[in-house]
Amino acid sequence: MVQITPIKDLEPDDTRKFIEAKVYRKWIATKNEETTPVSLCSILIDEEGTGVQVNINTNDSAIFDKYMQINKAYRISNFICEKTLDWQRTLPTKVTLTIGKCANFEPIPPDRFPQHCFHFASYDEVCNRIEYQTPILTDYIGCICNIGNIQHSKNPNSRKYFRLIDIIDLNNNYLQLILWNERATSFPIDEYESHTKPVLIAVSSCWPNIFTGTGMVQLKPTPATYYYLNPNIPEYQNSISAYRELFSQKPMLLADKNRRQDPQEEQRRNRITLQELNTYDFQNNKVLRNNKYTCEAKIQQVENNRPWFYASCDKERCNKKVGGKIHELLCPTHGTLKEANFSYCFRILITDGTSTITLALLCNNAEKLLGISCKKMIVELGFDNKYVLPDPIKALEGTTHIFQFHYQSPNQYMVDDIFPINHTATYTPPNTETPPTADIDTPKTNTPKMKKNLFTSSDEAETAAKKQKKT
Ligand SMILES: [Zn+2]
Repeated sequence: MVQITPIKDLEPDDTRKFIEAKVYRKWIATKNEETTPVSLCSILIDEEGTGVQVNINTNDSAIFDKYMQINKAYRISNFICEKTLDWQRTLPTKVTLTIGKCANFEPIPPDRFPQHCFHFASYDEVCNRIEYQTPILTDYIGCICNIGNIQHSKNPNSRKYFRLIDIIDLNNNYLQLILWNERATSFPIDEYESHTKPVLIAVSSCWPNIFTGTGMVQLKPTPATYYYLNPNIPEYQNSISAYRELFSQKPMLLADKNRRQDPQEEQRRNRITLQELNTYDFQNNKVLRNNKYTCEAKIQQVENNRPWFYASCDKERCNKKVGGKIHELLCPTHGTLKEANFSYCFRILITDGTSTITLALLCNNAEKLLGISCKKMIVELGFDNKYVLPDPIKALEGTTHIFQFHYQSPNQYMVDDIFPINHTATYTPPNTETPPTADIDTPKTNTPKMKKNLFTSSDEAETAAKKQKKT
């Protein structure tokens, strides 16, 4: 009768032990993202759920192919136990097995082995591993709050395209799993869609790092990485109801981050009432902060307590804010200017009937709304006092639009895009567009022209904005 050793009791240099284990994962280890294999690897788990990594020499690929079949179980003997090196450690087990041609495999039924073996790090542990550059591969579990579209990489290297999976935990900690190339295309969207939301993801053997572009914590897969949706593990059973609770309170945690090409679809993306929006704790919730929302709302008021445009230097990409009256503009570097760039910057209070928020409008979007460039407004229409709102801007009060915006600060959201309410016409006749109240304090001059221009000259506006950006 052979004695079976639990994996946790294996010691470095053991060679005469018998284990009974199930093949749990397998992968081909490569060096520096090249495709040449350096080792054939797998993870076995025993009845107690302890995992151990197995390395097989690339010359013994026949063993790898024949015996390392996922979910097959064996009694195994004639292997070497070696001390696990810290580098790219997949498991906390102190030994790693080396298996070659002389190993014995005796098939046994796989039913009594646990389904999974994870060593999940908490979000704080992930951050610690980044800070101390701990060379241990990380398992993580969290809830999928967004599946990004496939994006093409800007860096001309071997990686061509990628997909980002946004994951949050119950404390609203937010990180991203980045999947490259085949992993990006093979992500099981259909399986994800077939599950009731929210869906948990358990991902194994990743490198955590900080993505410099966004400062976001990212999990980078290694060849050893596997992921599972709603895995049948205690961590899933213990937390799924708490996640469901979280998402029922804040459905926008599952907001759609993928921009649509079709404006009809884009203007419906993450539609929200301002009342709901105002219940969100943006300061403590990065997930919500990164979303763009849309809302159909009326401009209740244009703020008139701050300048409605700013002027910047147009010399040699200087772009410094210039001061002075319109014909006496002065750049701190270039002195008196004959010309300058002018950009809208004003804030509007909008209401959808449920609540109100303040939106900041900058160049392009303000131009889209007004149908006239800031420069024309100043130079051609003569509204050159930045402390007095021009009539056409004042006339925006009472008009209704679909706004797309994101959170910027506790008192302000930033407009990302504006869509006209009427989907077919490029403009609506003045008498139906504006409620009578707005007409009362709006001087008649310019107004009809302005309204006619609403959303008609977006091409022109874009071209003007592009020109401005280039200089
Ligand atoms: Zn300058």
